[in-house]
Amino acid sequence: MNNALKGLRQITRRDRVFNFMVNADELVPDTSKGEILYVEDLSVSFDGFKAINDLNLYIREGELRCIIGPNGAGKTTLMDIITGKTKPDTGTVYFGQDIDLLQFSEPEIAQIGIGRKFQKPTVFEHHNVFENLELAMAANKRVWHTLTATLTGEQKDRIDDILHQAGLFELKFEQAALLSHGQKQWLEIAMLVMQEPRLLLVDEPVAGMTHQEMDKTAELLHHLAGDHSVVVVEHDMDFVRSIASDVTVLHQGSVLAEGTMEQVQANPEVVEVYLGE
Ligand code: ADP
Ligand code: MG
Repeated sequence: MNNALKGLRQITRRDRVFNFMVNADELVPDTSKGEILYVEDLSVSFDGFKAINDLNLYIREGELRCIIGPNGAGKTTLMDIITGKTKPDTGTVYFGQDIDLLQFSEPEIAQIGIGRKFQKPTVFEHHNVFENLELAMAANKRVWHTLTATLTGEQKDRIDDILHQAGLFELKFEQAALLSHGQKQWLEIAMLVMQEPRLLLVDEPVAGMTHQEMDKTAELLHHLAGDHSVVVVEHDMDFVRSIASDVTVLHQGSVLAEGTMEQVQANPEVVEVYLGE
């Protein structure tokens, strides 16, 4: 085969990204078909138990999706696979059409642009809110390329922007240790956003929050969608109802139902395994 034809074959194959030639933080997913994440035929077993069982999931760029399901459904395991913490036995996970995430390590996947928020807030307690965001920004090679390592006016504006969105602007110079549980959760989400993830995975953000805090969290996640794709794993049904996004119901490691909250609530199988709990 001549070289030109070989080259053409390589660039038209979906799995052909020469990862060894570029840094993970320079990869840009091809989302021209509208999807940012493709999870196909995914399975993983732990000691013979199928935690994920032939799962298929597609996330559109810019959408806000809730993933719900009873305990043990495989929600956290799915996030572990997307973020590179766990490798599946079979199946594929693509970021855009072209980036095969299974080839990458956990830190590389973070650099490629997938941010994950764990349930417990982890902020720098001894720093104030602004410094927390500054530190989060500095951790990102993609945004922190100045030799002087000082914030530009534009970067300061970005911090102020996210502070407003997260409802923390008035607390800009408050020490993080003094924030309420809800405020710490928002700060951590804001810190993730500073790293400019294209996809944001948020695990049970409203556990332990008041109703008022839940409403603010729903508002914040809605704000972030559009500029980012946001996947929220949540157990709290009131919150999932209030967030009013498309919902995927997991059960025994597979997708049981997908649609609006109204649609999945009307699905008898969903009622049986989850909502009737
Ligand atoms: P969810 O987050 O939906 O509650 P998980 O993904 O945490 O569910 O767990 C799915 C199933 O896989 C559970 O039965 C859990 O005990 C099992 N599991 C998850 N991770 C491991 C592991 N590292 N080793 C063994 N079993 C695991
Ligand atoms: Mg879980």
